[in-house]
Amino acid sequence: MRCCYAVLLWIAAVALSRAASGEPLVYERFEKSAVGTVHGEIHFTTDVVGHGGLAEPNRHAAVFDGKPETCVGYGTATKVTSTDFTVEAFIQPARRPRYDAVAADWSEDGENRSWALVLLSNGALRFDVSPDGRFYAENKLETPPRLIRIGQWYHVAAVSEGDTSRIYVNGREVAAKTRSKPGIFTENSASLKIGNVDRYATDRPRPFRGCLDEVRITEQALGPADFLKTKDEMPEVSGPVPQSYELPFAATAEDDAQAWQERARARLFELVEAQQPRYSTDEVALDFQLGDPEDKGEYTLYKASFQGNTKEGTRHACLFAVPKGDGPFPAVLCIHGHGGSAEAAFDPKGIYHGFADRFARGGYVVLAPSFPHREYCAMMLWDLFRAVDVLGSRPEVDAERIGVGGLSMGGEWTMWIAACDTRLKVAVVSGWMCTTEGVFSVPNCRCWELPGLVELMDVCEVNLLIAPRPVLFESAEFDGCFPIRYTREGYSRIRAGYKVFGAEDAAGQDVWPSGHEWHGVMAYPMVDKTLGGRAAESE
Ligand SMILES: [Zn+2]
Repeated sequence: MRCCYAVLLWIAAVALSRAASGEPLVYERFEKSAVGTVHGEIHFTTDVVGHGGLAEPNRHAAVFDGKPETCVGYGTATKVTSTDFTVEAFIQPARRPRYDAVAADWSEDGENRSWALVLLSNGALRFDVSPDGRFYAENKLETPPRLIRIGQWYHVAAVSEGDTSRIYVNGREVAAKTRSKPGIFTENSASLKIGNVDRYATDRPRPFRGCLDEVRITEQALGPADFLKTKDEMPEVSGPVPQSYELPFAATAEDDAQAWQERARARLFELVEAQQPRYSTDEVALDFQLGDPEDKGEYTLYKASFQGNTKEGTRHACLFAVPKGDGPFPAVLCIHGHGGSAEAAFDPKGIYHGFADRFARGGYVVLAPSFPHREYCAMMLWDLFRAVDVLGSRPEVDAERIGVGGLSMGGEWTMWIAACDTRLKVAVVSGWMCTTEGVFSVPNCRCWELPGLVELMDVCEVNLLIAPRPVLFESAEFDGCFPIRYTREGYSRIRAGYKVFGAEDAAGQDVWPSGHEWHGVMAYPMVDKTLGGRAAESE
């Protein structure tokens, strides 16, 4: 027992003297070798940042291949023993991260958490500290999203000072909080690792994929003046909203505005095509099939399906409503949102308030598809074209009078298809239209972030591709997904854009005191006016 105390005292004495001297606990320079034990394989590259200003020139960085075992390990004896400590590194992620660990002494196998610095899939950094090996959500610190981009070098630093956590990127503080559970666990049985973590966010190791360089762990709370130096100052990082856009709407004359629409539409097609190749209806037939008719009073409802935009023969179920009487009728494509379905769009009791049923009872042909959730919502664009193809091909439909409306992700799909398919004469974008800043201001599903879209233009401007066709935005005052001040700002920008198209009054916004739901009060009259139908009253 006495022996154990002696060892502990010795460890404490070593830690204290190291802390006092400022000597790092771990310092990997990755100049073609590692101080710690290499597990799996790392190799070295000359793609480096930070050369010149360091005590010794930096010529190499380490490449981590992302295999589950790959890391530089220090075993279970090397521990941060102070709540004042700093983990810093130069990082260059090669792939979209999945909790990729920069460095950690953490395992969720048992209660063996101490600290971890990881990169999240949304480009945020996360820094965890545990006082006793257990997980405390209130102890984790996360930066805003999209700070860290693939393929770029950054200096990142996680600093613990007493019970305060801070994260710095390129020397600027980007997140800070006081941890409600102070202290740091020093008796865990996890191994301190660079480029990996024993078990993090489920039961898997989380290897880093990309380059790491100059990884330094110091048992002091360092500030930017003490961080690893670079020859040139690292650029200031921006938050999730780009500082400039590839194709912002800047036209002041109608000709320029139309030219912008052409270019922007072509670019949107490219971005979607990069994720999801498009097949023509010659390659993959529409093959619209109707099931048995169901009498709904004013209309006949069919369970139906059509072939989606895949070579594998994926079919999309949908509901197809045909009014009684002599057509052809105007038509509306009615689209559900996250977790919704064609049936939900007809249901008067849910957040859709049966909008599909109201159009159908009022004399519109309605097509309501049930679409799956994809990684990116925009990957359904080609299937949305197919839904319009279905309506355009039906003898019951007047192809010159087709509109579209949807709520939530259905509002987003509405924006996409109305922006891209000029066969649609009117659109109701409910519970989606917002500025990019506004969409990022609350934790929305990331499926809207089609690669390249955020950089292309403020997302509210995509709606300007609908101009000069009539569009209505439903923006509920208490919609938790899209804060009202951003939807108001988005609308004023869209209206200003519509004015350039000579159609200012074709864009409307319905603001009412409610949450995330369909409203219809301005939407039905506008669709009726444009398509010459008459949506029914609620039952
Ligand atoms: Zn989503």
